[in-house]
Amino acid sequence: MAYPQTSFIHTSLTPDTLLGQRRQAVSANTLQYQLDVLKKTGRYDAFKLKWHPVYDRAPEVWPIPDHLFWDSDVAKWIEGACYFLQQQSMPAIAKAVDELVDMIRSAQQPDGYLNIHYTVVDPGNRFTNLKDMHELYNCGHLIEAALAHQALCRNDQLLSPICSYVDLLCKVFGPGPDQTHGYPGHPEIELALLRLYERTKTERYLSLAKYFITERGNATGCDGRHYFDVEAEKRGADPNMKPAFYPEPRSLWYHQAHKPIAEQTTIEGHSVRAMYLLTSVADLLRLEQGHHDLEAATYRLWNNMVNQKMYSTGGIGAMKQWEGFGLDYFLPQGTSEGGCYSETCAAIGVMMLAQRMLQIDLDRKFADIMELCLYNAVLTAMSTDGKKFTYVNQLASSDKDLSRRDDWFTVACCPPNMLRLLGTIGGYIWTYNAMVEYRSAHIDVHLYVGAKLTFDCGSDVVELQQETNWPSSGDVKFSLRSKSAKVDIRLRIPGWAESWKITPECPDAEMKKGYLRIRSNWLEKNPDFTLSIPLKPRLLLSHPLTNQNTLTIARGPVVYCVEDVDNPWVEDHFESILLSAEYKIMEEEVHDPESGNSYVALKVIKGASILDTQAFEETPFLTNDKLSKGKPLQELKFVPYYFRANRGGKGHMRVGLKKTN
Ligand SMILES: [Zn+2]
Repeated sequence: MAYPQTSFIHTSLTPDTLLGQRRQAVSANTLQYQLDVLKKTGRYDAFKLKWHPVYDRAPEVWPIPDHLFWDSDVAKWIEGACYFLQQQSMPAIAKAVDELVDMIRSAQQPDGYLNIHYTVVDPGNRFTNLKDMHELYNCGHLIEAALAHQALCRNDQLLSPICSYVDLLCKVFGPGPDQTHGYPGHPEIELALLRLYERTKTERYLSLAKYFITERGNATGCDGRHYFDVEAEKRGADPNMKPAFYPEPRSLWYHQAHKPIAEQTTIEGHSVRAMYLLTSVADLLRLEQGHHDLEAATYRLWNNMVNQKMYSTGGIGAMKQWEGFGLDYFLPQGTSEGGCYSETCAAIGVMMLAQRMLQIDLDRKFADIMELCLYNAVLTAMSTDGKKFTYVNQLASSDKDLSRRDDWFTVACCPPNMLRLLGTIGGYIWTYNAMVEYRSAHIDVHLYVGAKLTFDCGSDVVELQQETNWPSSGDVKFSLRSKSAKVDIRLRIPGWAESWKITPECPDAEMKKGYLRIRSNWLEKNPDFTLSIPLKPRLLLSHPLTNQNTLTIARGPVVYCVEDVDNPWVEDHFESILLSAEYKIMEEEVHDPESGNSYVALKVIKGASILDTQAFEETPFLTNDKLSKGKPLQELKFVPYYFRANRGGKGHMRVGLKKTN
């Protein structure tokens, strides 16, 4: 049960918790809202393969036609819808899934090929620009949609045509002399192929995934040259024409194709591509022994990402131009400071990678980051009503980029990714393994969420329930039910926790890599127990090499921000607010009547001030002793970053505040 996409079905979430409420917003609003958008924009009917006026339009970003991702937009909606339909009946949504599946089936070409752009708009040129045109990326999402559809409907109506398409790819791509030695510019199909292999046990799907992963970045893979150079030359591409999103001509590192993955030393380029690629590598490491170089590279790239290139919210990608990683420690908070992108899909990708790493190495460092992303960079991307979204998740607003949400995007990768994630979130909470022959099981608890896990262990049914108001409260009540199976539980103790306590006391519990192992013999006597982790506000320093010199307030896994709604006097996006490390802070449980959400708000009393820059007017080069301490602020109010941009206001927001000298 390694994949959240298959294990989530064993978990039911408590409705009135934070995640339960977000899932309810998706069921009540988001699925239908996104379906309406698919219909309104032409995506819904695109697999009918008729001409659409959008196809005549000059691309917003050359050379990517505006409709290029439509296959994946539809596929991701189907996939997300199928996850929700597995746990809840929604007839209108189910009907749309059926219609879309029929349309996709009808769009398949006689040889199995299945892609809107290269069938309707540019026939005859399929597989000529793997680097830029997302053909295989779209196929990857169709595979994932088909797997979700099969799990829901228990038929192969979608899986069968998709397997035919993949069979065609298995013939076209590979190491053979008559095969194309290429791989996708935007990884995704690799992780989808591995999932397809695990579902169907078809060896050639594993081989193709492995080929795409290991061939990537081969400088001499195609007639002694790099595949992306050869395909560009073959189609007569002008080497001087550079897409606006390429950092430089060729830009192989933008695609993580500058070197074989096993030789890459730092995480580079487009961040969503990097996360999808490494997620597939982590899956391969779990499936097959012996990929030592790939394993070492995965840890190396993870560490570089987390230690040098990640925001305090779990967001990644400082660079807007290539939606990706900048230099080590280049982590400005917003446009006015020089950047910050932090795409929603990238943070979801970090969660995917972290969840996969936990399957091969139960180390809390992965779960801590997974939780950080979930409660900050990811949850902030959807409004409480589930109808508005963010693509970019900056940590500070500016006049150019206010802290606001949008209804939809031309490149609409992020909104349906929220569906997929929230649809399978139950699978991220825990991993279980039932060893029927030994009548035993173990459950690794990664996230604390009001939820119940139920699974079979032979003739026994094992149930583990969490009752908690996390992340507002740090108390988690566990109830384990099992007639005869022996169950071990491993609980993650977060790295930020100053202390923790199990009640009743469990003296034999052992800690390994941040997971506390509670053995079955204790659990048999104590099936109801409580884990308490005090959640206190804490101040996070920015790394000195970032030159940010800021303080960020966090409480448990939740990072806080200031918004003008609570601090209406602000005129400069909180740019000139100073925060002292010595202050009094008050917690307040707030109920927002409009969304029905409750959260802990924070109020800093007499710890903040407004920077006085008057002295700089005489000279921009002031000695430290001349700098004023600023005008004290009586109080400054903070809300969770995930809750930002839900209550109107001017769109002024900031996470890290300048640290008082
Ligand atoms: Zn996205």
